[in-house]
Amino acid sequence: MLLRPLAVLLRAARPLHQQQQQARIVATQHIRFYASAPTPKKERIPFPTMAAVSDSDVIARFGALNISAPKVIEHAAVKGGAEWRAELDKLGKTGVAITKTLLFKPKTAKTAEPTPVLVVAKEDTETSSGLIGNLLKLKELRLANEDLIKQVIPSAASKDDVSPLPLPAPVPATLFLLLDAAIASSSEEFALHLTTSATTVLVKGTEVKAYLESIAGSPEAVRVVDFVELKANAPAPAPKAAAAQKEAPKAAAAAAVAKKDDDLYEMAIQYKKDEDFPGWYTDVLIKGQMIDYYDISGCYILRPTSYTIWQTIQNWFDDEIKKLGVNDCYFPMFVSRARLEREKDHIEGFAPEVAWVTKAGSSDLEEHIAIRPTSETVMYPYYAKWIKSHRDLPLKLNQWNSVVRWEFKNPQPFLRTREFLWQEGHTAFLEKSEADKEVRDILDLYRRVYEEILAVPVIPGIKSENEKFAGADYTTTVEGFIPTTGRGIQGGTSHHLGQNFSKMFDIYVEDPKATAADREAGKDTKINVFQNSWGLSTRTIGVMVMTHGDDQGLVFPPKVALQQVAIVPVGLTKGEGKNDAIYEACTKLEQELKAGGIRAVADLRDGYTPGWKFNDHELRGTPLRLELGPRDIAAGTTLAVRRYDNHKESYPLNDIVNVVRKSLDDIQAALYNRALEKYNASLRHTLKWEDVVPNLNAKSALVIPWCEDPQCEDDIKDRSKAESMAGQAEDSKAPSAGAKSLCLPFDQKRFGDFPDGENQKCIQCDKKAKRWALFGRSY
Ligand SMILES: [Zn+2]
Repeated sequence: MLLRPLAVLLRAARPLHQQQQQARIVATQHIRFYASAPTPKKERIPFPTMAAVSDSDVIARFGALNISAPKVIEHAAVKGGAEWRAELDKLGKTGVAITKTLLFKPKTAKTAEPTPVLVVAKEDTETSSGLIGNLLKLKELRLANEDLIKQVIPSAASKDDVSPLPLPAPVPATLFLLLDAAIASSSEEFALHLTTSATTVLVKGTEVKAYLESIAGSPEAVRVVDFVELKANAPAPAPKAAAAQKEAPKAAAAAAVAKKDDDLYEMAIQYKKDEDFPGWYTDVLIKGQMIDYYDISGCYILRPTSYTIWQTIQNWFDDEIKKLGVNDCYFPMFVSRARLEREKDHIEGFAPEVAWVTKAGSSDLEEHIAIRPTSETVMYPYYAKWIKSHRDLPLKLNQWNSVVRWEFKNPQPFLRTREFLWQEGHTAFLEKSEADKEVRDILDLYRRVYEEILAVPVIPGIKSENEKFAGADYTTTVEGFIPTTGRGIQGGTSHHLGQNFSKMFDIYVEDPKATAADREAGKDTKINVFQNSWGLSTRTIGVMVMTHGDDQGLVFPPKVALQQVAIVPVGLTKGEGKNDAIYEACTKLEQELKAGGIRAVADLRDGYTPGWKFNDHELRGTPLRLELGPRDIAAGTTLAVRRYDNHKESYPLNDIVNVVRKSLDDIQAALYNRALEKYNASLRHTLKWEDVVPNLNAKSALVIPWCEDPQCEDDIKDRSKAESMAGQAEDSKAPSAGAKSLCLPFDQKRFGDFPDGENQKCIQCDKKAKRWALFGRSY
C-alpha cells in the first residue's frame, strides 16, 4: 500500500515544541542604571568635556590599528541584551557572544572630580560592583546616571547606546577602564554597539583589547579583570564582625547599606511582566535560579529549583501510568543512519534539525550516528519484533528521556530548546476501543499534572484536522492560556495513531477470532495493531512560571516548590552571641516542619539583612515566609507572609506543622483559583466576525461557533492575520499573528447553547456550526 511519507508524519509529531513563538530570546540587560544621583549643592568639577565620536571615527580607528574594519550590522534600536540578541538572531547571527558595557560612579567627595569606571564584559559575566570597588579601592560604586554617561561617552543619546568604542581619545586618566579577561584573551568575535544601539560590529576579543589600549593611550590604562577569579578570591562576607564594627561603626554601617542596596538592585527583576513579557520571563528564570545559560545556544542548565518541578511531575505521573499498566523502558539516544532513513522521506523532513556524531576522538566515524529527534523509528521496529501474537498485547511502554532538535529559531527556555526533557509513551492494542480509552485516560493525567500539581488551569479537547498530529487518527490536547500575552499554549498531547504506524512498521498479529477455515480460504487474517503515543515535556515548567510569576519574581505552587517555607530571623541585635536564641528557635522550627514533611529552611545566612532575605525569597517564589524574632518567640507565634498575595498572619508555634500544612494547601488552591479566574475572564464568546480581531487584540481566547472545515480554519487564520496587520506594518511589536484553533473543548456545556440553536452558522463561512471551538493566538 501507499504509505504516507513518514517525514510528514514525524514533522508533525511535535506536539510539544512545534508552535511559532514570539521571536525574542532574552538575556540580561547590557547596561543597568541606578536611580539618578541627587543634585549636589556645591559645583562639581566636571568630567573633561570632549567631542562626540562618530561611527566613521570608530571605523577609522580600527583601520589605524591595521584591524580590518568590522562590518557594520544595522538593526532596530535595542533596549537591553534581550532585544539585541533578538535583532541579531533575526539577521542570522545566532549564537554571537554579546557584551555589556557598564558605567559606574563611585562615591567621591562632592567637589572632587568624578572617577567613573567603565566595565566591558561578556554579557553573562558576573560583574559585582562591590568586588570592582574593592579591586580599585573605590567606594560605593553605583550605576551612572544619564548625565555622567553623556559626559563620558558624548555620542550616547541614551543609556541604551553605551559602548566603549566611541570613547573620546585619549581616555581621561580619571576614567577606569576594565575589560573582562574572557574577552581580552579570546579570538572569538564579540558583539559591540558602534555609537548607537541600532548598530552592531563583531570584533575579536583580542582586537577589542588592542582597540581600547590604543584609545586609552597605553596597555596599562586598560585593566584586564578575571571576574571569575575576582569572585573566587573575594573574602566571604565578614560575619559577626563585632569588633570591627565597634572600631568603625559608621563606615561598616554605610558599607552594609551600600552592599544591601547593590544586591537588591542586582537581584530585582528588571522588567515588568505586563510591559516586557519576554524580558521578564528570562529575568525571573535566571534570577530565580531556575536555569542558567550554557555556552551552547539553545541549551540551558536546569538548576535544582526547576528540576525539582520536573521530578515532582515525573514521580506523580509515573505512579499513575504504572496503575494503567505502562512500564518504563529506555531506548538508546543514538540512531543509525539506516534506521533514521528507513523511510527515505524521513531524513529529508528532519535533516536540518538532526545532530550527528561524526567523530570519536580525532578519528572520523565510518558511519555517522544521529541523536534522536524523536523515537518512532527507534522503537517501532522492536514493536514489530516483540508483538508476535495477540497475547503480547497490549504493549505499553514509556520512556523518560531527552531529545535533540537542532533548531535555529530563537530559543526560549522550556518552550523552545535544542535539547529538552520529556516522557514519550508508545502503546499498542488489539482493539481500537482500548486505545481510545487510553488516549483519554492519559489526557486526564496531563490535565491533573497542570491543575493539581502546577495549579495551572487547562482546557481538554480535541485538535482540529489542521492541528492534529498528521500521523494520528486524532489528537487530544490540554490547552493552557497565558493572559498576559493573550496566547494559547499547548500543554501536552495524547494521540490515537490508529493503524497508520503499525502498517508502516509491520506491527501485526494473527486475528485471534480467525478460524482455520478462514486461513484455508486464503483470507487475510492479519490485524495491524492500534497505537497511541503521548508526550509531556519540560514546557510544563515554562507554562507554570508564566502563569503564576509576578513583577517581584517567581511564584511557586507549594507542591513543586523546592523550598516551601523560608524561616527568616528578625529583630536581631548587634553583638556576639546576642542572636543565638533566635537562631536556635529558627533551627528548631525548621526541624519541626521538616519532621512534618514540609520542605522548610531556616535562612541563617550571615551578612544579609532580613529585608534582603525577604526579597530573595520573594524572587525565588518561596510560597510561605515565617518571620521569627524575640517578640514572636516570647508570644509563642510566628508571623507568616504568603508569597502570592503578601497576606500576613500570626501562626501559633504550638501547632505549627498543622497550621503550615493547611496554609500550603490553601495557597495551592488559591493559586489555581486565581489562574482559573484569569483564564475564564480571557475566554470571550465571539459570534460576529467583526469582533474577532478586537477580541484577539484584547488578549482573549475566542469561543466561536465553527464549522470545523480545514479550509475555513485556514481562512480564519489568514483573514485575522491580514486584519491584525492592517495599518500596523510599521510597528514590529504589534501583535500580528492570526488566530488558529486551539482545540474543540470536550466540555461543550460550559459554553452554553448556540444562540441560533440548530441553525447556528459558522463565524467565518456560511456553513453550519458543529461545536464551540477555542481559537486564539498561540505559542
Ligand atoms: Zn466555517
